[in-house]
Formats: sequence, C-alpha cells, structure tokens
Amino acid sequence: MPVDLHSFAIPEEARVRHLRWKATVDFRSRTIHATATWEIESNTLADTLVLDTKGLTIDHITLNDNQPTGFRFAEPDALLGEALTIMIRPDTKRVNIVYQTSPDAEALQWLQPQQTSGKQHPFLFTQSQAILARSWIPCQDSPGIRFTYDADVQVPEDLLPLMSASNPQRKNSTGVYHFEMQQPIPAYLLALSVGDVSFQAVSERCGVYAEPVALERASWEFQDLENMVIGAESLYGAYPWERYDVIVLPHSFPFGGMENPRLTFATPTILAGDRSLTSLIAHELAHSWSGNLVTNATWDDFWLNEGFTVYFEHRIMEKLYGRDYAEMLAVLSLQDLNETLLTFKAENKEQDTCLKLHLEGRNPDEGVTDIAYIKGYFFLRSIEEKYGRAKFDAFVKDYFSDNAFSAMNTEKFIVYIKKYFQSHYRLVLEDLKLNEWIYDTGLPSNCPNPVSGKLKKVEAFLEKWNSGEKPDVSVGREWSTHEWLHFLKNLPEVVNLEQMEVLDNFGNFTSSGNAEITTLWLVMTIRNQYHQADSKLEQFLINTGRRKFLIPLYRELLKSANGRDRAIEIYAKARPNYHFVARNTFDALLK
Ligand SMILES: [Zn+2]
Repeated sequence: MPVDLHSFAIPEEARVRHLRWKATVDFRSRTIHATATWEIESNTLADTLVLDTKGLTIDHITLNDNQPTGFRFAEPDALLGEALTIMIRPDTKRVNIVYQTSPDAEALQWLQPQQTSGKQHPFLFTQSQAILARSWIPCQDSPGIRFTYDADVQVPEDLLPLMSASNPQRKNSTGVYHFEMQQPIPAYLLALSVGDVSFQAVSERCGVYAEPVALERASWEFQDLENMVIGAESLYGAYPWERYDVIVLPHSFPFGGMENPRLTFATPTILAGDRSLTSLIAHELAHSWSGNLVTNATWDDFWLNEGFTVYFEHRIMEKLYGRDYAEMLAVLSLQDLNETLLTFKAENKEQDTCLKLHLEGRNPDEGVTDIAYIKGYFFLRSIEEKYGRAKFDAFVKDYFSDNAFSAMNTEKFIVYIKKYFQSHYRLVLEDLKLNEWIYDTGLPSNCPNPVSGKLKKVEAFLEKWNSGEKPDVSVGREWSTHEWLHFLKNLPEVVNLEQMEVLDNFGNFTSSGNAEITTLWLVMTIRNQYHQADSKLEQFLINTGRRKFLIPLYRELLKSANGRDRAIEIYAKARPNYHFVARNTFDALLK
C-alpha cells in the first residue's frame, strides 16, 4: 500500500489488530482517563511500535501481562502531533498504554448544558476524521490500517454513552457500558458521544437517538430509515454492519453528518419537519459501503470515499423518491460544483480541482470540497452513462465485495476498473478519459448534464416573475424544498421592499422551519434591508451551530450598512452556543 504522509505509523514493522479501551469520561476536567490495550502483529525483527498521538499525557506503558517497557515521543508537529515510539520484543502480543487526553483535544467537543436542547446536562461528542483520533486514543491513525475494538466506558449516571459499535438503548444504574466493534475499521471511524439521549426504534435494525425533547421529531423525520437500507441493499449488496442507527446531536454540532459505522452522527438542522433534507442520511448510510467498507488508502484519495458515496446517495434517493427527484438534486449539485470551480480559479487553487489530491504537509480537511464529492460523483456517472447502468451497477457491487474491509487508492482503482471492464465486458476503458477526470483540473467535456423537468418549470415561473407578469402562485403549493431553493437562488440580487413582501407572502419564508430555505431567504433580507425578518435572523443565528448556514449570513451582514455592529451584537449572544470550530471561524471573521 502507498505511504500515508499523515501518519507516523510504520505498519510493515508492527501494526495494530485489536483495541481494548477502558475509559472514564470526566466532564469536570474535560478529560478522558483511559487504558488502551493494543493487540499487535509484528515483523520478527521489529523492536518498536510507532503510534500517532496528539496532546496525550502518557502515565506508563507495559507489554503483554504488565512487563515494563520504554517509550519516547518525537518532537511535536503542529499538524500531525507527536509520534510515540514504544519498545517491543519478538514475543510482544499486547501493548498497554495508560494515558489521559488534554482538555483541548481537538477530536473532543465538550458542551455545557446551555449548548444542548435540554439545557440540563453536559454533552460530549467526538469527530475523529480526518486525523484527530490520535488526540483521544493513541493509534495508527491512517485510513489504510484497520482494527476491531471493544470498550468499557464509565460516564456520569444520568448520561448515555454511544460509540461506533454495538450500542446500549437505555441507561443503566452503574454508568458503565460495554461496546464491541467486530468488523475492522480505520481509526478515523472511532467515535463516542455522551449525553442525555433516548432511543426510539424505527424498525428491527434501525433507530434514532436524540435528546428527549427532540426524539419524537427526529424519529418522525427518519421514518424512511429502513426503506433506505433496503433500497441501498437492493443496489449494492447486504448491509455489512448489522444495525443502522442515527444520533441527532445538539445544535452546536458544526457539521452536517459523520458516517461513524453503525451510528451516523447528524446535525439537527435536517429536522425540517417535512422529511425533505434526509438525503444527508442517504449519504451517511451509503458510506457504510463506500468509505467504511472500501476505504481511501490516504487522504489524497478522498474522492474514492466521497465520489462513490454521493453517487450511491443519488441512487438511493432515486430508488425511494424517483428519477425526477434525484435529477433535481443532481442539477443543484452541478450548479454548486460550477460555483466552486470558479472560486478555486479566482483563488488560484486550480490544482485542487483534480480528483487525486496532493495534501502533503497540509491539513486533510482542505480536501473536503465539492471536488471530491460532486466532481467524483459526475466522474462515476459519466462511466455509467457511457457503458449503461446494468454494467456499471454490477461493477460497483463487485467493487464493494471484492475490496470489502480494505483500502483503495486511486492508482489501484484505475487498474481494478479497467481489468473489470476488460474481463467482464471485453471493453477497454480509455486512459485518456480516466486520466483527464482524475489528474486534470476542471471538468472534462464528457461531464454528464442532468436535466430536471421540475426545475425547468421553476425557471419558467421565474422568468414570468422577473418580467413582472403575474404567474400562478398556487404552483408553489406543490413545490418541494429543492424547487424552493432553486427559486430563491435564481432571484435577482436586488429586490425592492414591496417585492420582498410579495415574495414573503408567496413562500412564507420568514416563518420557514427549514434551515436551507431560511438561510437563502435571510441572506436576501439582509441584502435588501427587509427588516420584518430581523428577529428571525437573530433567533436563527443564536440557535443554529452548523457553519454551512452561519457563514453566508455573517458574511452578508458584514457587507450591509451598519451590518458589522449588528453582527457583533448578535454574535455576542450566540457565541456561547457555538462549537469551538465555529467560534474559531467567527472570531476571525468578526475581529
Ligand atoms: Zn461523505
């Protein structure tokens, strides 16, 4: 396998196979005290095991059944942390590390009660992707290295811990819980959440965890979970992780979702009240195959995780809600991709528009852009369109089963797909096209062109609207969230106050409970000084933590008259509710 430049591990010398993790979660000191016991395999000549760590304090390390051993830390690297080198012997089967995390561990988000919906209890959740697992567990933090794990976790009695593993469904009186993950996973899929959450089953193998006040809404929103799993299985094979549950995190969760195996972590902003934003769940579910089962070998190959996942997500949505619906999503994503390509060009970052990335010395988070996701999706779709869906589907299904529980890099992928098409269909995939998509900037000329009849109708409606004609506004009653988004995105930038009021009456935007619609509308209300929405804006900024929605609103405020003062005033009230990555963003933006 290729060398992973974001990990210090030397797996060809000694590698981890299984983790036994015994931990106590301490909210008062914002630390975890733990023993990580690694079962390892080593080359007979190897005398060291190298693990990734970041900010961990090691108490002591022993081998097998408590034999003392030496260890040393390398000089810290600001991005990668500190390599931990442990002396081992030829008979070493286990390495036991007694340690504690730092209160600033980057993967651990400690929330105060006021940052939760219930306001009564603190909350903790982790985000290990891409290279942060090392800040809470000493590990070989490379996506190409897999291991199984079990854990015993002690938490305060009124809280429930959950992991990317077999999970409890209710609290017990001891505060100690046992977890098992029997399928091997890479370190970036290690996950833990601890909070006052309850469980509600949706089906035999699917369910929802949320804070009690949000549980009912969440389980209504996710009624289709089981159908999504069935739909996904009918496309690309049996679901490989037994249970599929979703936890809805508190509002300060700054991301959309995270595909932790068996337990997707999700933002509460997908609780739109009309099940219209659940493609995010289809996405995280699709990761159960692309990413979690067949994993990018390094972060330079991130498009293999995300491009396949977006492709699979679109196919699940098509299966459940029809081609029309899925095409609508595809058109909207192509628009986003084109905007991103223009931005990258303007910022002189065209090199980052290749699917294969070069992230050496950079934070892998810089690869989290529309390129990996949407360009990756259209690349795979271009192969589907050229050779037909039946052939492509057979390929995808075999790709997942042939490479299950292992790592894939871009070069290996090219060899695999060419060989597959040659041996199964006697078809020769042209290097030229593959290379153009993968190693060249921008979008190749054979990029698929999705067409949505529904969005075309919205465009026709917009034309009338903009020309001053009175279109039939009753059509809006039939529109889905995505049609409304398309409408809002394509309105003129400047709209007079009278027209703003007409618009608001048409779409009831100011009172919308849908975070996607609310964000686009509020940007318009700031730009056009529509003050009827002022209190909605303030309330939304205070109660939302997902950066995707906050960034455009604060940016637009900064552009408007007196907007800076207003932004600073609202931010002062909102800041205690935000997650530290969001605080970092807005401290910088509003300084
Ligand atoms: Zn994803």
